[in-house]
Amino acid sequence: MTVPAAPVVIRLEPDAASAIARAAEEAYPNEACGVLVGRIGENGWHVIQAVAGANVHPEPRHRFEVDPRLVFDWMRRLRGGPHALVGHFHSHPDGPAEPSATDRESAYDRSAIWLIAAVPGGRLGALRAFRLGKGADPPFVEVPVEQPGCSGSAAGA
Ligand SMILES: [Zn+2]
Repeated sequence: MTVPAAPVVIRLEPDAASAIARAAEEAYPNEACGVLVGRIGENGWHVIQAVAGANVHPEPRHRFEVDPRLVFDWMRRLRGGPHALVGHFHSHPDGPAEPSATDRESAYDRSAIWLIAAVPGGRLGALRAFRLGKGADPPFVEVPVEQPGCSGSAAGA
């Protein structure tokens, strides 16, 4: 049995959130995808930028594959700096913002965060984040997303 350590969140900068929304809506009805730039701190991840790329999967309506050239370019660009690729995002056109069976099969990187955007009817819906759990047969574990620039009503009363 493992007990989660300190609460872990993902702080998502407004620019990153809007880039994900734009990519998800433009790609509809296909899945959008891209990489997340940020860093890992004590309390989780801080995502400062989302970079959309081509979905190079042959079945882009139901699957995604981030263009490997995008990943390579950004790894090179970020090398030696304070930020790194901390995960990726993709969208689920007319599907829920949670890992699909395919996502579960293709997940292997335990350090990467997965941001999944629902796009009901071509408009951004829920945006949720997940990471792989620890253990032999890891399910995805949801990680709360904080959007610091957003004055939403989510703050506790
Ligand atoms: Zn998916």
